[in-house]
Amino acid sequence: MDDVTKLMVEQLRDAYSAEKQGLRAMPRVAKKATSQALKEAFQMHAEQTEHQIERLEQALEKLGARPGRKVCEGMRGLIEEAQSELEDHDKGPILDAVIVGAQQRMEHYEIAAYGTLAALAKAAGQQEIADLMAQTLQEEKQADEKLTQLAESELNPAAIQGASQGAQADTAGGKGGGKRSSAA
Ligand code: FE
Ligand code: ZN
Ligand code: FE
Repeated sequence: MDDVTKLMVEQLRDAYSAEKQGLRAMPRVAKKATSQALKEAFQMHAEQTEHQIERLEQALEKLGARPGRKVCEGMRGLIEEAQSELEDHDKGPILDAVIVGAQQRMEHYEIAAYGTLAALAKAAGQQEIADLMAQTLQEEKQADEKLTQLAESELNPAAIQGASQGAQADTAGGKGGGKRSSAA
């Protein structure tokens, strides 16, 4: 196996681990979402992710390799950070905005990985692998774009409305309520 093929195998294995980790995390995160549209976006992307995993398996097979046990540390870090951010908020519009932000970081990470893989495969004359990776790259970009649209049209306005209502309730209540600090 030549060096470029080895590099591709390493990166395919990394992406495979990233997708597997993402797939495991998605239903847990979706459960914490309030917006029905956000829940559906997660459901849809989880289904896409299963196909993305198949494409990675196909690409590895073409190179005579298997997924192996490599762990994508980048995705692991993103998921860890997302989990701790999610724990800081109760269910509601602010948490939905946090969820979108965390998910978009993961989509951008994947976009970078598939962009690299598609370019590498193309340069190496592995057109079939390049096409598979380009297909996934498109899905990741669309998933990211969909989250941006959802945030702009629904989730951010709801978060801002919810936050200003909370602030009004604090003023009206005098002492301030719940988790909100009186110094804020
Ligand atoms: Fe993916
Ligand atoms: Zn990685
Ligand atoms: Fe993705």
